[in-house]
Amino acid sequence: MKSKKILIIEDEKSISDIVKFNLTKENFKTDTAYDGHEGLEKALAGDFDLILLDVMLPGIDGFEICKKLRERSAVPIIMLTAKEEEVDKVLGLELGADDYITKPFGLRELIARIKANIRRTAMSDDSPTVSAGARDFANLTIDMDRYEVRKDGQPLELTLREFELLRYLAEREDKVFSREELLEDVWGYEYYGDIRTVDVTVRRLREKLEDDSSNPKYIMTKRGVGYYFRRP
Ligand code: CA
Repeated sequence: MKSKKILIIEDEKSISDIVKFNLTKENFKTDTAYDGHEGLEKALAGDFDLILLDVMLPGIDGFEICKKLRERSAVPIIMLTAKEEEVDKVLGLELGADDYITKPFGLRELIARIKANIRRTAMSDDSPTVSAGARDFANLTIDMDRYEVRKDGQPLELTLREFELLRYLAEREDKVFSREELLEDVWGYEYYGDIRTVDVTVRRLREKLEDDSSNPKYIMTKRGVGYYFRRP
C-alpha cells in the first residue's frame, strides 16, 4: 500500500521532531511547517492524506488555517490544542476540524487517531459497492452514495462528519444509539474520543437540518440514553 502523507504544522520543533520520527517509523511520509504562513501554503499546495495542525502558531493561528483550508479542501484535519479553552473553541466553532488532541498527548494515542481518521476517509472514498442511492425522509433527501443532503430540494452544506452521522442514524431509523456507540461507529475509535464531540455535531446538524433546532423533528434525543433518527 502507498504510504500516506502527513503535514505537521507545529512551531515547537521538539514536538514536531518527535511526531515526525514516530510517524516515519509507522511508515508515513511527512512534511513539516513551523509557522502559520508556511503551513497554510504547504497545506494548500501539497497532496496530503491528513494535516496535524497546532492552534498557537506564529503568523496565522491554527483556527484561521483550518477555516481557510476548509474552503478549499476536505483533507482530514486533527487540531493540536494546549488548553481547555482551545478545545472549547475547536468544538464550538464552525471550523470543520475532524478531530483534536490535547497536549501533552501520547504518541500511541496520536497515531491511533491519525489512522482512524485516514481509514474513515478511505472508506468514504471507495464505498459503497452496493448502491444505496437517494432516500427520502419526509422533506429530506439523503443521497447515501453521493454525500448529498437536500431539504425541500435545496442542498445542505454538511461537513463529512455531519453527513456520516446523519447517514448512520438515518440508515437505522428509530434505533437509539448512545454517544459512546456513535463515537465508536461514526468517528471510528473506541477509547480516545470525547463524547462532547457527538453533542456538538448533533447540535450543528440540527441547526442545518431542522426548521426549529430546539424542537427537532429528525434527530431526536432519548433522554439519558442518546440519539436516534425519526421520520417525521
Ligand atoms: Ca504552538
